[in-house]
Amino acid sequence: MAEYDIVITGGRVIDPETGLDAVRNVGIQGEKIAVVTESEIQGKETIDATGHVVCPGFIDMHNHNAGYAFGQKLALRDGVTTPMELELGVYPVKEWYEGLDGKSRTNYGGSVSSVAVREFILNPDLKAAFHGNFVLDMVSPGKSHTSMKWSQQPSIAKQIEPSQTLAKVYKIPLSNPATATPRKLAIA
Ligand SMILES: [Zn+2]
Repeated sequence: MAEYDIVITGGRVIDPETGLDAVRNVGIQGEKIAVVTESEIQGKETIDATGHVVCPGFIDMHNHNAGYAFGQKLALRDGVTTPMELELGVYPVKEWYEGLDGKSRTNYGGSVSSVAVREFILNPDLKAAFHGNFVLDMVSPGKSHTSMKWSQQPSIAKQIEPSQTLAKVYKIPLSNPATATPRKLAIA
């Protein structure tokens, strides 16, 4: 009987690509899934997954904890192997990516944080204390000197004008918050 590096036995295997949803044994060789089978297989290491789901890792597009070890641990406990910081974002971006290079237990990705950029511009005392993890800067004002000015200080005309110019270039309709009527969201 072939011996795999790792076998995961008895789990409910769900594979969206092939539509498989059944109890199977999975054999892993190196970094690849070598076999998904009903037959009994053996490995150097065996994980008994009876009563559990075995499936590809989830991608979480809205995750604020991708950039530090404890957050990654929480993601993995949820089956998330790719947490992405795409809502609040990260800043400085280069520092964030460099801080995770070779150290992350998960895949990761982040968008540039417009909120953090605004805070950096409005608050000269701000320090990026957590390697670009702006979410940690925000909740640790003692270390990072965040002021939350980004959320409390209204934009001035000088800041709004470049956005309006860009909106015209890309033909994005703008509404005036003072006169706009709330839109009803269509929920399918
Ligand atoms: Zn969020």
